[in-house]
Amino acid sequence: MAQDIQSNSEKFLLDIRDLHVQYHTDDAVVCALNGFNLQVRRGEKLGLVGETGAGKTTMALSVLRLLPEKIGKITAGSILYGEDDLVEQTEAFMLGLRGRRISMIFQDAMTSLNPIVSVGDQIMEVLDLHAPGMSRHEKSERVDRILTMVGIPPARKAEFPYQFSGGMKQRIVIAMALIAEPELLLADEPTTALDVTIQAQILDMMGRLKEQFNTAVVLITHDLGVVAEFCDRVAVVYAGKVVEEGTVEQVFGRARNHPYTVGLLNCIPDLESTAARLIPIPGQMVDPTRLPPGCAFADRCAHCMDVCRREPPEMNERDGHRILCHLFKEREG
Ligand code: SF4
Repeated sequence: MAQDIQSNSEKFLLDIRDLHVQYHTDDAVVCALNGFNLQVRRGEKLGLVGETGAGKTTMALSVLRLLPEKIGKITAGSILYGEDDLVEQTEAFMLGLRGRRISMIFQDAMTSLNPIVSVGDQIMEVLDLHAPGMSRHEKSERVDRILTMVGIPPARKAEFPYQFSGGMKQRIVIAMALIAEPELLLADEPTTALDVTIQAQILDMMGRLKEQFNTAVVLITHDLGVVAEFCDRVAVVYAGKVVEEGTVEQVFGRARNHPYTVGLLNCIPDLESTAARLIPIPGQMVDPTRLPPGCAFADRCAHCMDVCRREPPEMNERDGHRILCHLFKEREG
């Protein structure tokens, strides 16, 4: 096992294996991740897509071990980061990791800026925590550099959040996430609620992270257009599992897709199409408190077979393009 972990740590920055996460409420147990597998290589840009409630944010919170206390529990599986299994690590270890080696941009993060502290001081606080040996002058220079990188004039660092537009505040939050030059950035809907011009600027900036710091980015989003433009690889998540994973070309090429991915792709508006309506995916996301024994997508799938209701599908792989579906076992197995 130790040898296995070492060889994988050379290949992958992050290697999530068979992760199970549950939320325990007064009324029910919500099975949020149900055998979630994902690998992220150094410097790559991976898009994580799927409907609300699919488990994307839970995956990111699990990696950082920030699941809601007492309610959220990792019940099985491992999160290998380098040679460490983050599931097993102490809180002291995680404190050293969060914000320094792994950063996260949370949904609506700009609302969490402190309104009575200047943006420069808020960014500096990250360095105070993670680079205590650095002089004040060095920290100040680093803050200026990161502000320049996100397109905010360093001369404005003494100003307060209310003096900036929404797009600028989001870039300040990104500056906070990047100031410690992390190896991995988990970005949860970083451009939602921003207009398209600012969205393009932020994606462009995140795209340059690989050249600057060799930072890997996991971009969590509903927006397949953003994924197609920004990412190297895509993982499609449904009911707490990755159901399809491949390069952008493999997944968006539409030659071979999981039925759920087909549904997501059919929901993208196409300006050249003459179709009067988009084709929505029928039905609702499966109830995560009562998962079926077979495929979780069965009730919504036009290709559902008897075996789909009885047995969970296995992953089928061709040229690194992985699809979790009985259909491909039948066709290609
Ligand atoms: Fe559809 Fe069966 Fe594939 Fe599930 S396993 S997506 S029900 S064909």
